[in-house]
Amino acid sequence: MKYCLIQLGCQMNVSDGERIRTVLERMGFAQTDSEEEADLLGIIACSVRQKAIDKVYTRIARWNSWKQKRNLLTFVSGCILPADREKFLKLFDLMFSINDLPQLPQMIRQYGVVTPYSLSDDSADEQVSGPQQQPGNGDADGSSVISKAGLKAARPKRSIHKAVVPEAPADDRDTGYWRIRPSYTSGFEAYIPIQNGCDKFCTFCAVPYTRGREVSRDSGEILSEVRRLVEAGYRSITLLGQNVNSYGVDRKGQELSFAELLDRVGTIGEESGRTFWTYFTSPHPRDMTDEVIDTIARYPVLAKQIHLPLQSGDDKVLIRMNRNHSVKRYRSIVGKIRETIPQATLFTDIIVGFTGETEEQFERTREAMREFRYNMAYVAMYSPRPGAASSRWNDDVPTETKKRRLEELSRELKTGSYRYNQTLVGTTVRALVEKPDRKHGYLSARTEGKLPIRFRADSRKLIGQFVDLRVTGCAELSLEGEIAGEYAGTPNGSVTLERVAAQEIHG
Ligand code: SF4
Repeated sequence: MKYCLIQLGCQMNVSDGERIRTVLERMGFAQTDSEEEADLLGIIACSVRQKAIDKVYTRIARWNSWKQKRNLLTFVSGCILPADREKFLKLFDLMFSINDLPQLPQMIRQYGVVTPYSLSDDSADEQVSGPQQQPGNGDADGSSVISKAGLKAARPKRSIHKAVVPEAPADDRDTGYWRIRPSYTSGFEAYIPIQNGCDKFCTFCAVPYTRGREVSRDSGEILSEVRRLVEAGYRSITLLGQNVNSYGVDRKGQELSFAELLDRVGTIGEESGRTFWTYFTSPHPRDMTDEVIDTIARYPVLAKQIHLPLQSGDDKVLIRMNRNHSVKRYRSIVGKIRETIPQATLFTDIIVGFTGETEEQFERTREAMREFRYNMAYVAMYSPRPGAASSRWNDDVPTETKKRRLEELSRELKTGSYRYNQTLVGTTVRALVEKPDRKHGYLSARTEGKLPIRFRADSRKLIGQFVDLRVTGCAELSLEGEIAGEYAGTPNGSVTLERVAAQEIHG
């Protein structure tokens, strides 16, 4: 029995996918990338753009047409707008909120597929490793293993469908979803969800309607997951949340604040004696407190890279976006970062051509871009997101104007970033090797500040390792380097150059 999981959208959906995979593989399903050979077809939906929603409709139409010829089950989860929810209920066999993931085996069982899966197998204390093998035939309640015959069973009534819950009820944090051990897709970098949903209601964004209100995960669980990953030798850990630095606000007085959580992660790093980098995404300027910045400065395992979405450099646009902060406030945060962590790189998100944005307002964004000297900016042309408040407003900035503004900001970004990159030429930087580079015979790595750097290497065994690289040159948004002498190993499993010298890089 095989499953195929289509993941659309952001890193949060990828993280949800890692937990869905665990549940399905515990049930005895084996993963396949081929939709044609799967018995169970699932999709983690994204509602950020109409294009992503359209992909879901295209997929399910194709899958349903296959049902004439063979037995298969379909499900959908992820970010789903209320308007699509009703339609998906009719099109998919199962629809569930990610909070209901622990109930997925029971939902599938109602289709006649019986599995030995038991949630009690999962606990926060489990080791970090690949998905466990399914137990033998039968579990405590005598269920048998799944079979094709199971899928041939009569379809249940529609009443079993689980609707996605628009507002997470207070007890959602206890559904067990977060305690399901993820099947990590990488052996050296991992994403840990610490918070779900958002209370900010930016007018261009639909997340509060698709993911529900903010719910913070239990800090004990988060820190256990961090500890296990560190012990397993992970080099890069990213704390994830739609509004990650408002962590704990929904449980004030009962839970750690975001700064306190970071402090605990820093302490785990110090006690472990290992080298790793901890990132977090996506934060909101409103919740970027001095304590958070001071904590990042204090601990070497808290990476010196900060993503601080600006969205616009004009106060009036920020008000219409409902961002609830001014450019002045943003400036004071950047000032604090520059003063406390001068080596930190700064990334941002910007929307150009937001409804009603004038030329003058755009110019302020351009000035802000120059002033804040970003290392990377994700600049997007505004397009109405279905379900978001601004989708009801007139999208009145012509596409050509949006394109021009995007190009102008890209040029600003590249000029500033190139200037910064030039200051690194001749220095030695530590980098985490991620993958083979597009250029043959090279590997692609990232510095602690997440700047891409490629270097010549004969072995792909360096992937997942830290290396010290001398920066030999730079482009607008990337660096070029060479290995600086002996491999600068770390206490958590170093690889020497001698040991890996001979292997060719493939792919
Ligand atoms: S902070 Fe704004 S942009 Fe970010 S998820 Fe919440 S509503 Fe969306």
